[in-house]
Amino acid sequence: MVAGIRTPSPLNESTKSEHNRHLPSLETAMAGTYKQLDAIRVKLEKHFKDMQDIEFTIQEGRLWMLQCRVGKRTGTAALNMAMDMLGEKLIDEKTAVTRLTPDQLDELLHPIVDPKAEKETAPVAGGLPAGPGGACGQIVFTANDAVEWTRQGKVVLLLREETNPEDVEGMRAAEGILTARGGMTSHAALVARGWGKCCIVGCAALHIDLHAKTLTIAGRTYREGDWFTLNGTRGNVYAGKLPMVSSTENPRFVEFMHIVDKYRTIGVRTNADTPEDAQKARDFGAEGIGLFRTEHMFYGKHSEQPLFILRKMIISRTEQERRAVLAELYPFVKKDIKDTLAVMDGLPVTVRLLDPPLHEFVPKAAEERAKLASALGITVNEIANRAEALHESNPMMGHRGVRLGVTYPEITEMQVRAIFESAVELTAEGKKVLPEIMVPVVCAKNELDHQRGIVDRVYAEVCKKYNVRKIDYLYGTMIEIPRAALTSDKIAESAEFFSFGTNDLTQMSFGFSRDDIGGFVPDYLKLKLLPADPFQVLDQEGVGQLVRMSIEKGRSTRPKLKVGICGEHGGEPSSVAFCYRVGMNYVSCSPFRVPIARLAAAQAALADGKSAQKAPGSAKKAAPKKTRKAVKKASPRKRT
Ligand code: PEP
Ligand code: MG
Repeated sequence: MVAGIRTPSPLNESTKSEHNRHLPSLETAMAGTYKQLDAIRVKLEKHFKDMQDIEFTIQEGRLWMLQCRVGKRTGTAALNMAMDMLGEKLIDEKTAVTRLTPDQLDELLHPIVDPKAEKETAPVAGGLPAGPGGACGQIVFTANDAVEWTRQGKVVLLLREETNPEDVEGMRAAEGILTARGGMTSHAALVARGWGKCCIVGCAALHIDLHAKTLTIAGRTYREGDWFTLNGTRGNVYAGKLPMVSSTENPRFVEFMHIVDKYRTIGVRTNADTPEDAQKARDFGAEGIGLFRTEHMFYGKHSEQPLFILRKMIISRTEQERRAVLAELYPFVKKDIKDTLAVMDGLPVTVRLLDPPLHEFVPKAAEERAKLASALGITVNEIANRAEALHESNPMMGHRGVRLGVTYPEITEMQVRAIFESAVELTAEGKKVLPEIMVPVVCAKNELDHQRGIVDRVYAEVCKKYNVRKIDYLYGTMIEIPRAALTSDKIAESAEFFSFGTNDLTQMSFGFSRDDIGGFVPDYLKLKLLPADPFQVLDQEGVGQLVRMSIEKGRSTRPKLKVGICGEHGGEPSSVAFCYRVGMNYVSCSPFRVPIARLAAAQAALADGKSAQKAPGSAKKAAPKKTRKAVKKASPRKRT
């Protein structure tokens, strides 16, 4: 039976299935023994206060119990059991909260590939599980085809070597995304996860021939239109159509999450870039936006016009040219910020100043370059020359983040004006707004002070223009460069809050390019040189030391420093537990991971014994002092 070569008889009549309907059940064949077994089952469940996996034998009519242990279960079963046992008063609320793993919760939130079908099918390839859930569709190789085929009513999977902003419309249209290159924080992974879309990246076995529109895996060739199935939770790629199981939303989920929040002591915010994402995240329980990446307005739906203006700005050569283009861009930026602040009505919104990887936005297609040349009144050759001048050998460490604001203060000025004007106008409309201005890629206090000069000047101008005395806001920074972590005491003199950008902090601590890890990290994992992909699971041993030290140093000069995380780790359960232990005030993650972070944060508080049951709806702020004590106590604990 264990080997699966015999079909066991069913235990009772009510659990008969189509596979064993013809077999006699224990209930009818041995009624007395069945009753005895059932009574022992109930007794065991009451004693262990959990569902048991029971082994028994019946020899010459006598029942022998061999073993019992806590039974494994799916996400849906775990939720139902926890809520049933809570209803039966077999367990209390705190125990119920610990009965679902964050992964099981994730399972509940996305449609998945039917596990039975997956067991019977061998994957043709594997990659990094970048976006959760399952997806099944016909393969296409360009973003345009993804859009066009979807328009024709087909369901497609977009296969790319790697993705870039020009692919976003196709990525949005596709049911799932599969790339041959890239790591967990590559463009495809970030965008897909933000949307809760199934995505596998770094699948090195794929050989895509864009000309022939074919895909070859291990010598076998597939054509455009062939069906494939992806399991984005595990990173498995299947040829053909596998059935999907839809995750019908259990109303008990809402009830369960309500209980979870009673035991959570740190906040959970979201990384949202559009008003729609912000709304979705609020529906999932987000208590604010921890990262609003302004440059995402240049991707996806309705981005054509702002993207074109941004390209003009990038190509501009003089301050005068740039200021003229920034004035054109201003209404788009302001609308985006204002709409998002309005959706988050009264909740904090951290707006990050522009951090565009410039090279990604320089148009490569001849047609796009021609359009830009004619708009700027210059030749295509001139565009090519300017693009060439912008080329950087290592753009991730190049002219990005605060460095842009230092060399082009007018870019910071435009954004800060948009934030302040939106705040004043919304306040006048009776809304409550809490903007937080966040400066990215900072490595020294001086950079923050330089930008602060611009912020203060624009603040005074906006107050004067609208005739208001004050605008509430916070000014802070991302900590995503090791030097910033090392000098956090100084940086905190200028920053009212820190948000850890652990994507870049991991990249720069390990010296692993976040876009190129597909080539070697899988081998590191196979050889167990790394316990996990550090872009997925925060490296508490190394990067974590920087985080812990940075918080301690920061709070040594500003005791009330507000601290959060907005790297991708903010939605990964063991990393969330770490954030709790080092005394962060909140974690921020993509909308679909918000419930997972809520559960992980509550479980961390419960594990620490620090969680006091709060009245529903009460504010959830971690007192830094208390959590610092918790950190000390928790430090010898094993890594989770
Ligand atoms: C980070 O570096 O962790 C971060 C959130 O910023 P981005 O991913 O946009 O570089
Ligand atoms: Mg970053």
